[in-house]
Amino acid sequence: MKQSAAPFDPAGQAAREDEQPSPSAGWQHALRDAFRTPRDLIAFLQLDPGSVSALDGATDFSMLVPRSFVARMRKGDPHDPLLRQVLPDSSERETVPGFDRDPLAEMRFASDGVIRKYSGRALLIATGACPVHCRYCFRRHFPYAEQLASRQRWSRAIATLRDEPELTEVILSGGDPLTLTDDAIMELVRAVEEMENVHTLRLHSRFPIMIPERVDRQLLKVLTGTRLRIVMVVHCNHPNEIDGAVQSALLELKAATAQLLNQSVLLHRVNDNEEDLAQLSEKLFDAGVLPYYLHLLDPVAGTAHFDVTEARAKALIASLRRRLPGYLVPRLVREVPGEPSKTVIL
Ligand SMILES: *Cc1c(COP(=O)(O)O)cnc(C)c1O
Ligand code: SF4
Repeated sequence: MKQSAAPFDPAGQAAREDEQPSPSAGWQHALRDAFRTPRDLIAFLQLDPGSVSALDGATDFSMLVPRSFVARMRKGDPHDPLLRQVLPDSSERETVPGFDRDPLAEMRFASDGVIRKYSGRALLIATGACPVHCRYCFRRHFPYAEQLASRQRWSRAIATLRDEPELTEVILSGGDPLTLTDDAIMELVRAVEEMENVHTLRLHSRFPIMIPERVDRQLLKVLTGTRLRIVMVVHCNHPNEIDGAVQSALLELKAATAQLLNQSVLLHRVNDNEEDLAQLSEKLFDAGVLPYYLHLLDPVAGTAHFDVTEARAKALIASLRRRLPGYLVPRLVREVPGEPSKTVIL
């Protein structure tokens, strides 16, 4: 498969190349055991193959879905909102004007695995690997092989950042930084601690939602054993993604961090309705998480079938505002290349 050499490849290759992780932590086993072909997933969910327009065979963005996430899908339902996020769809092949490979112009801002777009904050592409491949991913075409801050290159990236006095926050992103082993994360934490002006370390991760076992004792120890304030931003789009195990993991993270937030992407026929968005905010709150951003889809090639119009998005936010306390209404944002921050849509 074309994808196999690229760092987006599953199972934490990036981490495994560099070191031997402690033998089969539960979450590493869960990654290895994930579904990798639409055919297997469709069979497991007892779907009529005629009811889904799955892309089987070659795609430049392979399928990867952990079993723990599949367990939260409804069997026999081709429209399940969790399934829709992860099952490769034939629409991905369509070329739609305005949907490009790098709509965020991230390449212009990236070097040595660091993306500097906003003042005070630097985003480190800690790994290209993820616990799941979300079909709408805005970095599905990102050239991780060129930009990956692999362990050998971290030192260079970090040396660049150390010289920037106005930098106060480092964001570990990817890919998903929790694909790295705890030792590797610890090493990054130590390096960031050495940056005198940096007081906050943020992690953007979908792991606690996808494979909640990732939030184990060792990880919690890493997060609590530092002078840095840890902000964790998880990524959850639909209330059905939060089951008991996810809720427990999130509550543990809440206790171990300074702030626990969620970002979602507004996705057609996944969560573009008032009821699901309201329930999502409420279930997140029950798990100790505050909604942060609701992103409008970035116009990335192969994702147009997830698009929701700005007018519809605004109407949804307006109804959430009527229904929920202000702190449970996420900020609706869009990323506009060249702007000094995410653009809030009022
Ligand atoms: C979104 C983003 C950030 C963080 O922005 P906040 O508004 O602080 O959450 C930082 N760097 C890059 C490149 C981003 O895309
Ligand atoms: S949306 Fe996040 S978790 Fe999903 S594939 Fe993209 S980077 Fe990975």
